[in-house]
Amino acid sequence: MPFSKLGLHPDLTRAAKSLGFIEPTPIQAQAIPLALKGEDLLGCAQTGSGKTAAFAFPILHHLLEHPRPGLRVLILVPTRELAAQVEKMFSDCGRFTPFKTAVVIGGVSYHGQRQSLAQGLVLDEADRMLDMGFLPDIRNILSRLPRQRQTMLFSATLAPEVEHVAAFALHHPHRIEISRPTSVAEGISQVIYPITQTQKTEFLIAWLKATQIHSGLIFCRTKHGADRLATRLNALGFSVGVIHSNRSQPQRTAAMDSFRAGRTKLLVATDIAARGIDVRQISHVINYDLPRHPEDYVHRVGRTARAYGVGDAITLMAPDEQTFLTAIERFTGATFPRAVLPDFPYQAPPMLAPPKPKTLGQIRWKNFRRSFRRSR
Ligand code: AMP
Repeated sequence: MPFSKLGLHPDLTRAAKSLGFIEPTPIQAQAIPLALKGEDLLGCAQTGSGKTAAFAFPILHHLLEHPRPGLRVLILVPTRELAAQVEKMFSDCGRFTPFKTAVVIGGVSYHGQRQSLAQGLVLDEADRMLDMGFLPDIRNILSRLPRQRQTMLFSATLAPEVEHVAAFALHHPHRIEISRPTSVAEGISQVIYPITQTQKTEFLIAWLKATQIHSGLIFCRTKHGADRLATRLNALGFSVGVIHSNRSQPQRTAAMDSFRAGRTKLLVATDIAARGIDVRQISHVINYDLPRHPEDYVHRVGRTARAYGVGDAITLMAPDEQTFLTAIERFTGATFPRAVLPDFPYQAPPMLAPPKPKTLGQIRWKNFRRSFRRSR
């Protein structure tokens, strides 16, 4: 179905064309017609599937069809980078419209604008907002909005907390599920490299030297770990940026800009900072540490293969991270292949086979030993 058949204002169809959007993505094809009718939506689609334009186009359409002065639409997202990304999409989709967008981020008051908040509300990446403790803020903002409004909630994962917000924020929403909420985009090939924690950096360096990387995003669990790894890689001559929440906004923006422009090939990031990263050409996502929440794995690897492209995701797994991998494999319903790096001087043989599930007898024996110890 071409964009022109969706019922959008001609200025928006023209923008889609100029952006090279030939056909709507599946989430757009389903969400746009419903959003144009003013329906509430609960949209679940994998990362990089075009969710932002799925709500940007209908919102701009409503604004064009029903012009009124003042602040008209509020979009809530969990991170600054995502806020910048969403703003960019709005100005791209609205390039032939007269509307202005603004980003309000940490520490900036929007007191003056509060009175004029009106009918539209979008919650994007709702799962992460809830993880980050934004529920009271969401409730607070909702209480200031008219009861009669259109609300759209988008998320790559449909955690129970998201359902909870949907229950009080949305009114008879249409549910759109494009893929299993836990699934990873099809174009991403995923491999696990078992390696001890102490050899991880050495391994990563050897792997980077052995691999043709166009641009790679490296995930670390902690800010400190991210800084340390970036310093080490920079010292070895790799061009590396760092992005995490302890860095100042200008530093974060500069790191993103050089990564996007290809001046730095590698970007080391923590989970929080990475949500909004939509850089088309990321060829590799590297999990230096395993994420503690399986949803984060889906979001991390979703930074590659954007817009139904292809990409590689590799994960360095230390023996004590096996439980996190098991949780991810259960969550995504996939078993990832384990691999070794040829000629790497492994200090311990890498654990290539997934651990065998424990037999009932083993579990009973463990429980018996535990209760025996407790009783003494
Ligand atoms: P999102 O899921 O909103 O982060 O979008 C992921 C990427 O898909 C962005 O780089 C968009 O520019 C791109 N995109 C969105 N809609 C389309 C479309 N209909 N055709 C091609 N690319 C698109």
